[in-house]
Amino acid sequence: MVIDNSPNFTLPAITNKDKYKCFLGEFETPLVWKNIISHSILHIVAVCYIFIHDYKNHPWIMVYAYTIFVISIFGINGGAHRLWTHRSYKVKTPLKVILLVSYSTTGMYSVLDWVRDHRVHHKYSDTNADPHNINRGFLFAHVGWLCMKRHPDVIKKGREIDISDIKDDPLIRFHTKYYQWFRLFFCFVLPSMIPPLLWGEPWIVSILTNSFVKYAAVLNATWTVNSLAHYFGNKPYDKNLRPTQNLLVAFLTKGEGHHNFHHAFPWDYRASEFLHMFHVTTIAIEFFHKLGWAYDLKTVSPEVLRKTIERCGDGTHELSKLTN
Ligand SMILES: [Zn+2]
Ligand SMILES: [Zn+2]
Repeated sequence: MVIDNSPNFTLPAITNKDKYKCFLGEFETPLVWKNIISHSILHIVAVCYIFIHDYKNHPWIMVYAYTIFVISIFGINGGAHRLWTHRSYKVKTPLKVILLVSYSTTGMYSVLDWVRDHRVHHKYSDTNADPHNINRGFLFAHVGWLCMKRHPDVIKKGREIDISDIKDDPLIRFHTKYYQWFRLFFCFVLPSMIPPLLWGEPWIVSILTNSFVKYAAVLNATWTVNSLAHYFGNKPYDKNLRPTQNLLVAFLTKGEGHHNFHHAFPWDYRASEFLHMFHVTTIAIEFFHKLGWAYDLKTVSPEVLRKTIERCGDGTHELSKLTN
């Protein structure tokens, strides 16, 4: 199930006084019904299928789908997020290709749009220019922002943000040009073809598991960073920021839930001070670092970390407890 979540950067400016009204209520910008309907179908089918799936006779398709899920998460976290948005490390071409293919398995919009959105998110976090501004509500930050036109400030600041490094990268340019084909093939077609051809899984089971359950799981896991990790949790690094430390999100996203740390030190390739066993992205980056395909891994210095915790933290960090 392919959903077009491409941001609309050509939307004419809408002022706050032009609130959009419909039978669901009053919104700051018009709803995008195409996305609301497609997301609703995706989630209804995925949730229903989770309940009716024959786990006893078809256990391996779920293990397989979870493996693809982890690959997708690596593509978002290791590629679109930590490499291309934040430049927290550098890669050689083979790893860049692996990351682009992994990212393609997510079924999300282009890397170029992902990077632009996320740089705007960091620069104008929790304001009207933030694409998934948490101040517009939990549901808006989770999925609502993809179901309505963008706030004029998001469009304005999105146009101003510098993404020349992304545009100058020939591999990303090539991927962006054909991303609809890449996502169709690597997110839906190929993952659905492998189980029937390799071990005789029924086609319908494979398609429902990969194109609905796995796809919805990847989207929701990623969205929790914008919703849960901007809502629930402590702020040991900077209490003035909305982003929080959220272990559930860290587990779901394989290491992106230490969001207070990440917003305080976005250039740190670990996106967390500590390494947990489920921080698959960091473990994978370090593996490729040993292989020589990832290099110049950036981390915050212990001194800057300590000073930030002392000056800005909410007192929940172990260091704060020691000094108090
Ligand atoms: Zn954030
Ligand atoms: Zn970030």
